[in-house]
Amino acid sequence: MATAQAGRDPASVSLLAVSKTFGPEAVIEAAGAGQTAFGENYLQEAIDKQQAVHTVRPDLVLEWHFIGPIQSNKTRPIAENFAWAHAVDREKIARRLSEQRPTNLPALNICLQVNVSGEASKSGVSPEDLPALAQVVATLPNLRLRGLMAIPEPAADFESQRKPFALLRTLQQQLAAIGIITDTLSMGMSTDMAAAIAEGATIVRIGTAIFGKRDYV
Ligand SMILES: *Cc1c(COP(=O)(O)O)cnc(C)c1O
Repeated sequence: MATAQAGRDPASVSLLAVSKTFGPEAVIEAAGAGQTAFGENYLQEAIDKQQAVHTVRPDLVLEWHFIGPIQSNKTRPIAENFAWAHAVDREKIARRLSEQRPTNLPALNICLQVNVSGEASKSGVSPEDLPALAQVVATLPNLRLRGLMAIPEPAADFESQRKPFALLRTLQQQLAAIGIITDTLSMGMSTDMAAAIAEGATIVRIGTAIFGKRDYV
């Protein structure tokens, strides 16, 4: 529906089901409905869930995305157990992920998290520092730079929700102009996905609207 309103092909936007706080049975149920990509924020919870799902349904081929903030002492299990990391915002983290990515796996897909909300947010690389970080990440051997990710400050109306997403799209175009071509804009959650899709999101990260309300964040 949001794609139709934005005049976009539904196939151009993929749905990442954010299963944090929900158990393996929720993942298995969503997989039964055809969902294959799942997003998780908390490392230990995610790894336990992956193992639990695999024990019950070893036949399921799922794609796991780590969407939470990444501490440098957690890079190895992320490099070993996920297909994507969405919240990379520092060179040190990127270098560790590349060094620790097992060589029998394909390159780890990376989105750089950008701080599109200024002082209101402490995570994400600043728009000014983004090109330099992107240039480094693009050269790391076991990573594949796919694009940009943002978590804007909540905004009530559609027009104000659009602005930070439009900024992220512009930043992606600016990277392309210096030769860093990427194909992903990871933006939009349950409350602002229509605005994100209107501004070009290629991955929306949706938790509540799929699984229901969480007991904790
Ligand atoms: C929890 C979370 C989501 C999903 O949020 P909902 O509002 O439940 O759709 C998306 N992205 C990130 C980074 C999250 O932490």
